[in-house]
Amino acid sequence: MGAVDLSTPVKYVKGVGPARAQTLESKGILTVEDLLTYAPFRYEDRSNTKAIRELAPGEMATVVATVRTARLSGFRRRDLGLFEATFSDASGAVLLAKWFHASYLADVLAPGRRVALYGKVDFDSFTGELGMLHPEFEILPEDEDDPEASLHVGRIVPVYEAAGKITTRIFRRIVHQALQALAPLPDPLPETLRARLNLPDRWQATRELHFPPAEADLRLLNGFRWPAQVRLIFEEFFWLELGLALKRRSARLRPGIAFELSDRAREQIKRMLPFKPTAAQKRVLAEIARDMAAPHPMNRLLQGDVGSGKTLVAAEAAIIAIESGYQVAVLAPTEILAAQHYFYFKGLFRDLGYTVVLLTGSLSAREKAQLKKLVAEGLAQLVIGTHALLEEDVAFARLGLAIVDEQHRFGVIQRLKLMRKGVAPDVLVMTATPIPRTLALTLYGDLDVSVLDELPPGRKPVVTRHVSEDRIEEVWSFLKRQIEAGRQAYIVYPVIEESDVKSIKAAEKMYRHLREAVFPGFRVGLLHGRLPASEKETVMEAFQRGAIQILVATTVIEVGVDVANATVMVIEQAERFGLAQLHQLRGRVGRGAEQSYCLLVTGKLNEAAQERIRTMVESTDGFHIAEVDLKLRGPGEFFGTRQSGLPALRIANLLRDGEILEQARAEAQRFVEEPPSEEEMRRAVSYLRDHWQRRYALVQVA
Ligand code: ADP
Ligand code: MG
Repeated sequence: MGAVDLSTPVKYVKGVGPARAQTLESKGILTVEDLLTYAPFRYEDRSNTKAIRELAPGEMATVVATVRTARLSGFRRRDLGLFEATFSDASGAVLLAKWFHASYLADVLAPGRRVALYGKVDFDSFTGELGMLHPEFEILPEDEDDPEASLHVGRIVPVYEAAGKITTRIFRRIVHQALQALAPLPDPLPETLRARLNLPDRWQATRELHFPPAEADLRLLNGFRWPAQVRLIFEEFFWLELGLALKRRSARLRPGIAFELSDRAREQIKRMLPFKPTAAQKRVLAEIARDMAAPHPMNRLLQGDVGSGKTLVAAEAAIIAIESGYQVAVLAPTEILAAQHYFYFKGLFRDLGYTVVLLTGSLSAREKAQLKKLVAEGLAQLVIGTHALLEEDVAFARLGLAIVDEQHRFGVIQRLKLMRKGVAPDVLVMTATPIPRTLALTLYGDLDVSVLDELPPGRKPVVTRHVSEDRIEEVWSFLKRQIEAGRQAYIVYPVIEESDVKSIKAAEKMYRHLREAVFPGFRVGLLHGRLPASEKETVMEAFQRGAIQILVATTVIEVGVDVANATVMVIEQAERFGLAQLHQLRGRVGRGAEQSYCLLVTGKLNEAAQERIRTMVESTDGFHIAEVDLKLRGPGEFFGTRQSGLPALRIANLLRDGEILEQARAEAQRFVEEPPSEEEMRRAVSYLRDHWQRRYALVQVA
């Protein structure tokens, strides 16, 4: 075998071979570099293992001992597969360990084997002796003089997540082999940066990640804060953030439209405003207006909790664009939301003399053709629509501002498609799913961010209660009292996918039951995604007018629906919804001056569902809820499958390493703004091109 370098396929590492290479591949480990970035998830201090005699109840401990006796317990317990073994070491004392459902261990833990055991020491409930229940264990080489033995005992050892038949011990061996075969690695991180931040060099850091030195602090290691780990985490974030910073810079240098902030535009905004903007709305509009006035394309994310008034800000931005002679597009994820925006904007722009059109998939071919003509000729100033807006044959005469509402429902591709309908238009994306900062910095790291962190005045936080389903009658009588007091209510059923005919049927059945048996004296309506568009509009409009008092609905009402008189949100089978959805649904109430309520009706809850419901009851803060959601589901699932583009991080972890991410971002920004030298900049950019793009495939580096 020739020289090994980072790009060498992992099958050439001694001890790997074709079968293991295949297993590794399933874990995404293809090259030596991939192997070296497969970080241990835990470390054990086996340099100072405890003698059995010294063990104390309650502690977590590692002992190195030999199996003395091993047996599967008597036939009455055979069905439990209880496996018991005793261990002894030089101290002469004996330790008992038990595993349930583990008959397979009879072949593994044979008497005479040397093992490392790791687990909690406690009194055995049966014998009263000191023992361990379900300890982790690792078979050690028989011969203490085996040169390899030093990888597994007598030091701080790394513990890897096993991959198929590749155990932690085999990982230790092949990682060790790879490190032996490699020449010291050059360090790609800019020298000045490394020196200033006092980061260990890459070669040392890589070796210490896997085989920490004797003096390493176990607590730091297990918290991933040993300098070697911090350095590698920092590096991973640094390249990601450098790529994003370069992308932001090149976007900022591209020529774009310099909108004019004319007096007339200001006048028009004043005429449009139905109420005094909040301080947050003013601040955010100023940020947007500054971007719009600059001769480069705006790329801004507007984050604001449900009900914070993003639409009003969007309307102000639209006026600026229209008064400069441009068209504005508003892309919404659902027909209901698009229709709602249409009515809202039409209302706002009533006295301004703009033409507003609504383009959705459910229009007839003729209607569509007519509207498209208006758009193509530049006669429609504000064009609101769903995905239909993105179709090939929708052409704008002069698209200047593209607004994407509820951005998390769309992918990056759709954003690009909309942008291409103009010549370097300004882009404003809005989302009501607050994105935890760590994710915003990675996923939307190429965007500038504005945050609406204030609700319009007079809003009372929604009172949220958890109700067990066997007490549903109490919910209905509460709801009746609210309706009798003149309010309106939503009752939501879990139809997560609108193509799910069976659950739609269930919702329809509940609707009939509620209308006929529970609320016979009230006006009850039904709304779900499979209704024809015209019927959806009729129902929404009737609810808006108050003609419908109780709206039985699926999650189609999740985004955007805005009826201030609705004060009760009942969510049935709330345990089936995710946190983000629950928060969005709750955001449909609490939009007026009256006290609003959200009642989460559930059956029995598992632990995760309990945590979700508790979070909802305790908090109305969208950012807090998003953080919990991220913790419960992990970054990959946070956005569901719709959102690709999350970087595939290897060593870094978004949940754990937020503050290192912040630091890496600041450093990357500084590096781009004031490169220490032309040479270092050139080297960093070429390293990015060669390595980083392949790994993250997130953005094109300019
Ligand atoms: P979201 O940010 O969830 O899209 P909307 O734009 O739908 O919120 O606004 C929620 C409600 O608050 C709307 O009825 C809107 O008219 C109202 N609103 C927005 N801004 C203000 C304000 N400054 N003062 C009072 N009400 C406002
Ligand atoms: Mg909105």
